[in-house]
This record gives sequence, C-alpha cells and structure tokens, in this order.
Amino acid sequence: MMMENIRIRFAPSPTGFIHVGNARTALFNWLFARQQGGTFILRIEDTDLERSAVEYEKKLIEDLKWLGLDWDEGPDRGGNFGPYRQSLRLEIYKTYTQRLLKEGKAYYCFCTPEELETERKKAIASGKMPVYSGKCRSIPKDESLRRIEAGEQAAVRLRTPGNGSLTYIDLVRGKIEFDLGLVGDPVLVRSSGLPAYNYAVVIDDSLMEVTHVIRGEDHISNTPRQILTYKALGFSPPHFAHLSMVMGKDNTRLSKRHGATAVGQFKKDGILSSALFNYLALLGWTPPGGREILTRKELAETFVLKKVSRSSAIFDYDKLHWINRQHMQKLTSRQQAELAYPYLKDSGLMPEVMSDAHWIWLERVAASLIQRVNRFSDFPAQVAMIFDFSPQDMEHEAKEELRKDTAFRVIKLFNEKISQIKEFDFDKFAVVAKEIKTETGCKGKDLYHPLRIALTTRGSGLDLDKFIPIVEQGAKLDFPVTMKNCAQRVSEVLDFLE
Ligand code: GLU
Repeated sequence: MMMENIRIRFAPSPTGFIHVGNARTALFNWLFARQQGGTFILRIEDTDLERSAVEYEKKLIEDLKWLGLDWDEGPDRGGNFGPYRQSLRLEIYKTYTQRLLKEGKAYYCFCTPEELETERKKAIASGKMPVYSGKCRSIPKDESLRRIEAGEQAAVRLRTPGNGSLTYIDLVRGKIEFDLGLVGDPVLVRSSGLPAYNYAVVIDDSLMEVTHVIRGEDHISNTPRQILTYKALGFSPPHFAHLSMVMGKDNTRLSKRHGATAVGQFKKDGILSSALFNYLALLGWTPPGGREILTRKELAETFVLKKVSRSSAIFDYDKLHWINRQHMQKLTSRQQAELAYPYLKDSGLMPEVMSDAHWIWLERVAASLIQRVNRFSDFPAQVAMIFDFSPQDMEHEAKEELRKDTAFRVIKLFNEKISQIKEFDFDKFAVVAKEIKTETGCKGKDLYHPLRIALTTRGSGLDLDKFIPIVEQGAKLDFPVTMKNCAQRVSEVLDFLE
C-alpha cells in the first residue's frame, strides 16, 4: 500500500503576537508532521489587509523558531507550492472565482452591509439563526453581469444546497453533523475584491496538497462552508482535526487576566523554549506512560493525534513553572549562568563586562539557586538576597532570635574568631562552630540559628555550605554593589546588637 504523502500546514494571520493557544496549534501540527515523516508548511494568511502587519509576521516567525519549530516550506524559505503568503496569491483566487461564476456554482451578491445587518437583526429578534436569505441567488446571470459592468459593488457567494445535512469525521472530535439549512451561502469574495478566509483557505489547502488540517475548534463552524467549497471546486477535502480551546483555571478563555499569554512574554520572563514546548504538548495530550518531562524529539516520536483530548485544556502556570524547573536543572551551570546573566545585569547586580572569575562565581551561584527559581527572571530577587546585608532591616523573627542571651554570646565569640581567620570558608566555619559549641555550651538550633542570622540576616535560605563560598568569593570581585564578606557581616550584626 502506498503511504499517503502527509502535508501539514500552520496558517496564522499576522494580526497580533502569537499567544499560547495558537502556538499549541502550531506545535500539534509540527508534532504530527514530524511524527508522520510528513512535510510541514507555514502559510501566512494576510488577506485582512487592515489588521495584518509585516512586523507581526516577522515576530511570529521569530517566536515559532524560538519555540523550536521548523518548516519545510514557507514564505521565508520557499517551496514548490508557493507563494506562501495569501496577499501574493490574489490572482490564483480570481481564476477560480471566474470558474465558479461561469459554472453557476457561485453568484454575485449585491446586498449592502446595511441590508444584511437588518436581515440579521430581524432573524435574531424572531429567535432564528441569522442565515443569509439567498436574495441574490435568483438574479439572472446576464443581469448580474450587466450590473457588475455598470460598476456596481458585489460580493461573490457560494451556491449551497440550503437544506439537508453534511457530515464529516473529525480526527479529534469524531463524527460531526451540520444542518445545511443553518449554514447559508458563504461569501467567497468580498465586495472589495479580496477573498474571504473560508475561500482562500480552501484553494490554498487544495493547491498546496494539504492532507490534514489541524486547527482550533473555533473553526468548526467554518468547516461545512469549506467542505462545500471544496466540492464546488472539484477538490477533495483534507482530514480535519479541531483542537479544544486553551482555558484559564477559572474555565474562561485564556487571556491576559490570567497572566502572560504571548509566546514572546514567556521568552522575556526566562521560560526555556524547551519547557514551553514540553508544556504546550501536554495541553490536551498525554504522552505514553504518563511521562511529563520530554524533549522535542521524544514528543515528536510519540505524538498520536487521535489521542488528543476533546475537552478543553487548562493552562496551569504552576505546572509550566514546574516543567521549566526540570528543564533548567538539566542545563550545565555555565548555561544557567549565561541565561541568568541578562536579568542580573538589567537589575544592576552584575557588571556590563564579566571577567572569567565573575563567570566562575556566577556559575556557582546559578547552580546553588536553580532549585529556588521558576524562571530565569526570578534570579535577581534571589541574588539580591545574597548582596543585601542590612541588619537594621532584618526580618522580625530573626531580630527576636537575636534578642536571646545565648545568641549574643554566640555571635560575640563568632566575631572574635572570624576576625582572626584569613581565608574563611565552610570548613573553617565548621571548626569555628565546634569551638563556639564547646566554649558556650550552646548547641543545635541555639548555636546554628544565630550563626546563620549573623551571616545572612535571615532565619532561612541557602545552606551555609553554599552560601559561605559564594559570599567569600564574591567579596573579592567587583560588582556594581559591593558584596560584604563573612567577617564584615558578623561584625555589623554585632554592632547592631550592641
Ligand atoms: N488564519 C486562520 C487562523 O489564524 C487559519 C485557520 C485554519 O487553520 O484554517 O485562525
């Protein structure tokens, strides 16, 4: 048996920044194409001239590439089925329109927008679905041609059966049936001469030999119109798969109210593209074995379109952050440092120019903090806590802890000892702590809590085996804000107590 030559397309309209809903559609198309060894096409649907912008197209391509998607044919790389931008295909649509008009499968509609609006309102008022009345259907061909030649404006509509039903099998949602009495004659070409989405999409998908259309379920109601158009043109329709919408946790359509929605914003916030990719793939699909952390390659190898859920997908920011943490932890500490650096520099914590010693230090910091951040943009707040040392602004609980008599004795002794030590490090800290224990009789929490607060001004935070070398090495480097070493810190806390 000959394998069908699978051809898949993602067909965005460049009317805004790409958000996670559309990105997930792109990703499912890509996964399916790659899993099937098919061809993936990017087509730009820019016939809405007023709302489309080249900048959006550029950003869209940039965001899709950042996400890790690639395509075999598209406006930026050509292919045998181009052009891949609808605004460059207007002549192609015209040829087919002439054919449909000639064959009587389409007709000119002279109804004005006002007339159509009145008709629509009337239908709604009487509780009916607003369906075009078919008023211009019966205008004789020669009469409509005369009116067109006389310069009258007209749209072109498809002549549909107007009754009966139409059924198709959706690869995600199963059998779907439409009442054609409720579909009406769709507009193929607007009176401006520009093709309607429903028309251009059918011609393009046919000529580009697209075999599977995977898109959002907001397009289900367009599908019968498109199937009828395929038939009128003598093309056979592709397979359709409609993906559920992406919702917020409150079950309303995901919007800015819920948090970031634009792919570009996640990038800015320091979410790894491999993590966003991983998370989007799980929105409505469960990989075999229930594994949740997967690479692009693993996802592409295991993706099964028919297993995609038809219930709406809930975008859970906590889950995305959890996945991002798993992906961040897989990076080397050098990669973690490099990705954290821009955020730290912008926050004024790191210098514009980094020496090798700065990088080595930052690698240590990144590796120590990686468990504590959800995204790279969380680094400045964590790193600021290491730089920040002001006993007077200490948290209430830490202050209370230091009020204990034993705490004062411990810190006083710590100060005496640390001021004698040249190269302080964690091993020396362990020795000093032991000596203080013997000399004061304090142990456990009574010993370690004051020591920690003296070094960090906080009752909790990074373990001291990580914290001490970061501070000691950091104190030897130049930063926009100076870092105090351990001895300076202890002496300041003591001054504060006295
Ligand atoms: N340009 C349409 C959109 O962005 C494409 C829909 C389709 O895939 O058919 O919604």
